[in-house]
Amino acid sequence: MIEVTRANPDSLLYIFPGAFMIKRAHTSLLSLFIICLLYPAPSQSQQPAQRLVAVKAARALDTRAGVMISNAVIVIEGDRVKTIGANAAIPAEVEVIDLGSKTVLPGLIDCHTHLTFEPSQMGYSSLGVSVPRSALTGAKNARLTLEAGFTTVRNVGASGYADVALRDAINAGDVPGPRIVASGPALGITGGHCDNNLLAPEFNHFDEGVADGVPSVMRKTREVIKYGADVIKICSTGGVLSLGDDPKASQYTLEEMKAIVAEAHRLGRKVAAHAHGGDGIKLAVLAGVDSIEHGSYIDDEAVKLMKEHGTYLVPTLYLGDWFLENYQRLGVPAPMVAKAKEVMPIARKNIARAFAQGVPVAFGTDSAVYPHGLNGREFAVYVKLGMTPVQAIQTATVHASKLLGWDDRVGSIEAGKYADLIAVDSDPTKDVTELERVKWVMKGGIIMKK
Ligand SMILES: [Zn+2]
Repeated sequence: MIEVTRANPDSLLYIFPGAFMIKRAHTSLLSLFIICLLYPAPSQSQQPAQRLVAVKAARALDTRAGVMISNAVIVIEGDRVKTIGANAAIPAEVEVIDLGSKTVLPGLIDCHTHLTFEPSQMGYSSLGVSVPRSALTGAKNARLTLEAGFTTVRNVGASGYADVALRDAINAGDVPGPRIVASGPALGITGGHCDNNLLAPEFNHFDEGVADGVPSVMRKTREVIKYGADVIKICSTGGVLSLGDDPKASQYTLEEMKAIVAEAHRLGRKVAAHAHGGDGIKLAVLAGVDSIEHGSYIDDEAVKLMKEHGTYLVPTLYLGDWFLENYQRLGVPAPMVAKAKEVMPIARKNIARAFAQGVPVAFGTDSAVYPHGLNGREFAVYVKLGMTPVQAIQTATVHASKLLGWDDRVGSIEAGKYADLIAVDSDPTKDVTELERVKWVMKGGIIMKK
C-alpha cells in the first residue's frame, strides 16, 4: 500500500476511498513538519530552571555498595537526583529539607502487589466486586502503599485492566500512588489458578486471562499488551487461594510458556510466573520467564537453574503470618485454608535453603492477601530466613529495579535517577523492622508524606 502511494497517490482514491484519509494525513504531517522547522522546541537552556532542593540527613544508604553515607546531602533538580555526597556544601539559592537524625533510602520497590484486590475479597465475596469498584479500591491502596515507602510496584494480576487505569491515573497526577508496572489480567489455563472456579458450569464463566494452546496464548499475550500491560503475568502451577487446583501441579506446558515468553520478549515485556510446585518452577525457568513468584516448593535443582538463567525469585512470605491469624473472620472457603496451612510453612523452609544457595531474589509481598501498607513486614521474614538487613533491603531496591528493567531510574540514590526517597527514624541496617515505620516519602522530588 505504501509503495503504491509513493508511485501515484491519487490513483488509490479510485480503488480505496480510505486512501483520501491517508493522503490528508500525509499533508497535515508535512504542515506539522514545516511548523516544527519554523518554530523549534525550546532548547534545554531556554527552558525555565528546575527547582533545586537539598535533602540533608544523618545517614543515607548506598544500596549498590550496601554502605551508609554519613551526613548525607542529596541535591534534587526537578524530579531527579542531581548529586549525592557526604558533608557536601549547599549553595545559598537551594531550598533545604533537613531530616535531622533520620536515615534516607531510595524509595522501596514491591515486585508483587494486587492493589485492586483486598483481603475481604477472598473466595465467593470476590464475585460481587465490579471492575470499577476494584479500581477505586486500587486508588485507596495505591496511597497506602506509597505512604508505606513503596514508590514503585509491579502489579501482577488485576481484573478488567483496573491496574492499567490506576497506573495511568497516577501518572496523570489524578490520584497519589507509586509508579506502577502493570500486568492487566494474568494468563492461565482453563480451570487453573488464574481462571475462576467458584461458579457452577451453567454460569459458563472463564476469567479474562484464560488461554490454552500455543496459538491462543500468543494471541492473549498480544491482547494484554494491546490493552496496556507492561509485564506479562502467567500461572505456571496451581495456587493456594483458589478452588479446584493443586499448587504442586504444573499447569501451562513448556511449549505454551515458551510461546508466551518469546512473544512478550519480542514485544519488550518481561514475564512473571506464579509457580509453587518444583516442576512448574523448572518448566517456567526453562521457558525463559524473568521471575518466579512465590516458589514455595523450590528445590536445589530449581535454584541451580535459576542461577544459570538469572531468573529472580519473588518470595511472598509475610502473608503466611497474617493469613493464618485472620482467615477465620474472612470467610475463606475451607479447601483454600487447608492448602494455606500445608503450603505456607513448607515454603519458608524451602526458601531459606534457596537463600543460602544464593538464588537471585527480588522483593515481593502479594499484598491483597493481607492489608496494603503492611508491605514492609516482608523484610523481617527475609532476615529471619538468613539474609542480612542490607541484603534484604537490596532485594527491594537494586535487585527489584533490575527485575523491572528500571535500574536506570529507580533502586538507588544516584545522579539522573528519580528523586524517590524515604526516611526512617534510625538505622534499618541494624533493625530492619524500621522499614515498617517509614516516616517521610518523596516521589519524583515531591513530598508525599511528612
Ligand atoms: Zn499474587
